[in-house]
Amino acid sequence: MSTTDVAIVGTGPNGLAAGVVLARAGLRVELHEAADTIGGGLRTASLFDSGVVHDICSAVHPMAAASPFFRAFDLAARGVELLQPEIGYAHPLDGGRAALAHRSLAETCARLGADGPAWHRLMSPLLERSEAVVDLVLSGQRTLPRDPAAALLLASRVAVHGSGLGVRSFRGEEAPALLAGVATHAVGRLPSPASAAVAMLLGHLAHGTGWPLPRGGSGRIAQAMAEDITAHGGVLHTGHRVTDLAELHAHAVLFDTSPKGLLALAGGRLPRAYRRALERFRYGPGAAKVDFLVSEPVPWADPAVGRAGTVHLGGTYSEMVRQETANARGVRTGKPFVLVVDPAVVDPGRALPGKRPLWAYAHVPNGDPTDPYDLVRATIERYAPGFGDTVVAHRSVAAAAYEAYNPNYVGGDIGSGAMTLRQSLARPVPRLDPYRTPLPGVFLCSSATPPGPSVHGMSGYLAALSALRHRFGIRDVPDLAPGPASLAFASPV
Ligand SMILES: Cc1cc2nc3c(=O)[nH]c(=O)nc-3n(C[C@H](O)[C@H](O)[C@H](O)COP(=O)(O)OP(=O)(O)OC[C@H]3O[C@@H](n4cnc5c(N)ncnc54)[C@H](O)[C@@H]3O)c2cc1C
Repeated sequence: MSTTDVAIVGTGPNGLAAGVVLARAGLRVELHEAADTIGGGLRTASLFDSGVVHDICSAVHPMAAASPFFRAFDLAARGVELLQPEIGYAHPLDGGRAALAHRSLAETCARLGADGPAWHRLMSPLLERSEAVVDLVLSGQRTLPRDPAAALLLASRVAVHGSGLGVRSFRGEEAPALLAGVATHAVGRLPSPASAAVAMLLGHLAHGTGWPLPRGGSGRIAQAMAEDITAHGGVLHTGHRVTDLAELHAHAVLFDTSPKGLLALAGGRLPRAYRRALERFRYGPGAAKVDFLVSEPVPWADPAVGRAGTVHLGGTYSEMVRQETANARGVRTGKPFVLVVDPAVVDPGRALPGKRPLWAYAHVPNGDPTDPYDLVRATIERYAPGFGDTVVAHRSVAAAAYEAYNPNYVGGDIGSGAMTLRQSLARPVPRLDPYRTPLPGVFLCSSATPPGPSVHGMSGYLAALSALRHRFGIRDVPDLAPGPASLAFASPV
């Protein structure tokens, strides 16, 4: 078998981002995907034989709208339209009430009443330095912040909200619930520094670059990345799960896998200390998903919720603290946090007469084998009486079953690793260059490396820069803008 320059195992957003960078650097790149289609967490597929497509994993893309990789890659110029809902995310509460994060900060604050000024004081400074805040959180976390003021701003908010003190700045129930709903995207104990950092990042983006959905579904993002790779000579293979590093004949190998996946493929060759560190890597709580086909929009008690791209169902701040903390300890609460997305709210073309896709998943303990259908349906029904009558068909995936679909989601952990303070700063192991393994030419590029989960492409991008520098002696960074590649001289982060 001939040797290529680069082999990448896995075609999730990070594997694809690495492929884009390395192919644009002029290297011969081959990507290997276990599933029959590319994309990892970026797959959109037809379910229920209905002609309606569903996002199998990710659906909403605040990170793809803001990340340095995608800013440079320019999805819009490649025909991927990011559709912005008028309300980024909504948080219904009992009694027909709901807190709403409008794209407009002023409108959000007006609706929060007495807590409006506190929400404004929290979000407005972050918005003023949004790009610097995003670049700081989505960097490889191994360099000094370019904008120390943004770092201070973020650190002070994380200290206050990560310790639980921040909730005291609000008087009503709506604002604390709204913020905690965003913090739960860290999928772990609440409050905590990691969840506070996520709340500040995603919270302010709802009023800035937004929480958009790609027209036609998340798969469009993967398709645009794959087209760029092939346009620069790269090759994508699907339908074959790589089982041993020895299968790959390349000068550099990048693994878009979990640490468990890396251990399975190369564990025997890794030095003992590094292997032990990977074995100690902790996985977080799981996701249990239900894809619904519904006959009409969700009948939310507060109709304004129906204008939101994302809906958080977790009840009050105290309820979410109980649920998320119990989950992180591996204890089922019977009242899980549930996220709901009705993509046709912003993308009417996703619905057909009497048929509408509805995406929902619950946070549950890692490895939970329970079918989530009854719980998720009952949770939506709590805030949308009559919802059950609109369900035409459903498909559920328990947390324990996720790993069979995608080996990266160990025990259903869709974040590829618990977002503890330690693991959010030193993923997967404490190393100066977290992408480089001790095996020459072997790199890890998945969301188990900084900056962690979500569709931002930054783990793949930063791992590719490390491979370029250390394996090929290339220090220039390829230009990522549409069109033929050239080597530029500065990294966007
Ligand atoms: C239900 C769900 C909802 C989500 N919602 C959102 C959201 O709305 N917004 C958002 O930003 N993020 C969301 N995420 C998270 C996001 O999808 C992930 O953070 C992201 O996909 C991680 O990218 P990755 O490239 O690291 O890995 P993945 O996307 O997991 O891709 C890894 C790929 O590697 C392949 N692979 C692994 N091992 C091998 C092997 N040995 N051989 C060949 N191929 C292999 C897998 O099949 C997979 O295709 C969601 C995830 C899930 C599951």
